[in-house]
Amino acid sequence: MLVVHSNPVVEPGVGDAGGMTVYVRQMARSLAARGLDVDIYTRRDSAETPDVTSLFPGVVVRQIPAGAPGLSKGEIPAYLPEFTANLLHEVEALGVRYDLIHSHYWLSGRVASILSARWGIPFVHTFHTLGRVKNEGRANGEPVEPDCRLRGEARVIAEANAIVASAPDEREWLIDLYAAHPERIHVIPPGVDHSTFRPGDRKAAKVALASSGALSGGLSGKRVLLFVGRLQPLKGADTAIEALGHLIAWGRLRKEEAVLVIVGGASGVAGASEPARLQRLAEDLGLADVVRFVAAQPQNELPGYYQAADVCLVPSHAESFGLVALEAQACGTPVVAAGVGGLRSIVRHGQTGFLVQPGASAAFAERVWRILSDQPLAANMGRLAVCGSSDFSWERSADELIDLYTHSVRQLAEASEVQRGVVAGAGRNFTAREEISGHTLDAPGVG
Ligand code: UDP
Repeated sequence: MLVVHSNPVVEPGVGDAGGMTVYVRQMARSLAARGLDVDIYTRRDSAETPDVTSLFPGVVVRQIPAGAPGLSKGEIPAYLPEFTANLLHEVEALGVRYDLIHSHYWLSGRVASILSARWGIPFVHTFHTLGRVKNEGRANGEPVEPDCRLRGEARVIAEANAIVASAPDEREWLIDLYAAHPERIHVIPPGVDHSTFRPGDRKAAKVALASSGALSGGLSGKRVLLFVGRLQPLKGADTAIEALGHLIAWGRLRKEEAVLVIVGGASGVAGASEPARLQRLAEDLGLADVVRFVAAQPQNELPGYYQAADVCLVPSHAESFGLVALEAQACGTPVVAAGVGGLRSIVRHGQTGFLVQPGASAAFAERVWRILSDQPLAANMGRLAVCGSSDFSWERSADELIDLYTHSVRQLAEASEVQRGVVAGAGRNFTAREEISGHTLDAPGVG
């Protein structure tokens, strides 16, 4: 796998590490559990990270130097040639040969395109987010995605052997906004780790969370609203704060009986000032004592938050998928989410939660109150949320991916055979079908 930015050895929830990091780690683990050898190449973004990390059995992460640590996403394109050259050097030194590349985010797609041509192997790409979609749903304070990203995405779409979309909406965006070929797009949703994210007793979870010291002040007798995610304007945590403000202003909740917990850290250039902006907003609305900010948590701490929450808010302005909504539902917590992108295929409106216009804080407040004020409805939604989340699992996603990998390898081999078996590549020419199918079709190794 290639994931140039967002180092998979870093814990998610802050900086560039979010849903894509979780996806790459969990998917790699499930693929390896099915017998594939998975090497993940990423850009070295810290001098301390070891060159090679064994993430899970069968999954190795290799750090490739290219540019200084701490580069922003916007600075990385200039270092892609160096990254590609160093990666090629490393792979040649290792003497490994891969059967397929799965790249993540457009930056990696650009590298995958070159490697795939050079090695004569297919590449499958997952975008995770798309520049044009971000620009359309741009929140205040969010920068416009640059032309080089939009052009880069278009090239990846044209050159990838297959594209994985996380939800039907992403498929439509790829077709409508990028004129992608429908046949090359495969909808394979991410999963959720049900052994980590599972329902618990809400009262006990509130007591446990309050006594863990993670939150200042107790939670007893309080209704808990929860936001989890990287803090940047696109994620809409301000909508959650405003929604709580409405509920208090309307007299539906008294300040003493409510708390909004915001878990996560600043992310990206646009997110650098987001924690301070959110804190100011809470102060301006007189909510400083009801909004509690908690630093990004390791994933295995998050179930305690989801289980303690009466409702989880996911007010993103754009979202390709929205793992947080799925994790909350797997923990039996109803979700009030923006009706955008993948969130529309996770939250079943009126059943597992509600979908609301992004940014419409009053509408969010109304829906949150609907859940808080009707205990039987909330309990039923929680049950349906758990039930709905069982449609998603990393194991199932990995099975679907392996089918796609196998299909891509076979398709390229057949196409190469038609062209007299020779795949043009600067490094190696080989008879594709024999070389690839000989050791890959059942269990491709993924680079
Ligand atoms: N996350 C985490 N710790 C935090 C906040 C978030 O581990 O403090 C994880 C969360 O569990 C989820 C991911 O980060 O799996 C966020 O994914 P999502 O798809 O919701 O948003 P993205 O980061 O892709 O925009």
